[in-house]
Amino acid sequence: MSISENLMAIRASIPASITLVAVSKTVDEQRLREAIAAGQTVFGENYVQEAKSKWSTLKTEFKGIKLHLIGHLQSNKADDAVALFDRIDTLDRVSLASALAKAMKKQGRKVPCLLQVNIGDEPQKGGCAINELPALIDFARGLSIDIEGLMAIPPIDLNAIRSAPSISEMGGVTARADGSVDPRPYFEKLAELAKANKLRVISMGMSGDYEAAIACGSTEVRIGSVIFGARS
Ligand SMILES: *Cc1c(COP(=O)(O)O)cnc(C)c1O
Repeated sequence: MSISENLMAIRASIPASITLVAVSKTVDEQRLREAIAAGQTVFGENYVQEAKSKWSTLKTEFKGIKLHLIGHLQSNKADDAVALFDRIDTLDRVSLASALAKAMKKQGRKVPCLLQVNIGDEPQKGGCAINELPALIDFARGLSIDIEGLMAIPPIDLNAIRSAPSISEMGGVTARADGSVDPRPYFEKLAELAKANKLRVISMGMSGDYEAAIACGSTEVRIGSVIFGARS
């Protein structure tokens, strides 16, 4: 299947109101051009340097492209991120909010953000703790950062989450027959948090679980391998 066929198949399987973010980490320029030619306009990248080298010219060539940063952002790369991306989906801490606000002011460029939530309370994962979310929203808004919504990645490793207290509060973890974690309680929790904080965008769902995410209220799915093939 070609990239354009993959994109068509996904679009046909999701409601038109859902934003499809094509996750293009490790995808080279030729394949990005194929996706653009197939009408894809929203892309997600994980690494600032990689995105800069791939997209700087493509973004001048194709004005309608929207580039989202979906990977962890170090504060010392805030300047580059603000210059290149149209949205930053991984704002998860006060120090990063400060760095981003400073970069935006310096460049006279406003870049909306999503707050990344550590929805499974995993010690090794990025994202703001659920109970710190309201304070981070207030802090970022106090710096005039436009917070459009929330983003999260549910846990995949059962061992990493067994000890997390928030899981039992959420009704317990459901392991599937193959040992993977049922993402639905986490999706539901993120949707609930977005609603409670009156946030419009709910970015959740990847290649393996986007249909479940949409059923739980996702407004935006981030899909890589189903579009571009498996990453090596
Ligand atoms: C890589 C990545 C995706 C896409 O993953 P696939 O399983 O290839 O669809 C989505 N979101 C984030 C944050 C990612 O890092």
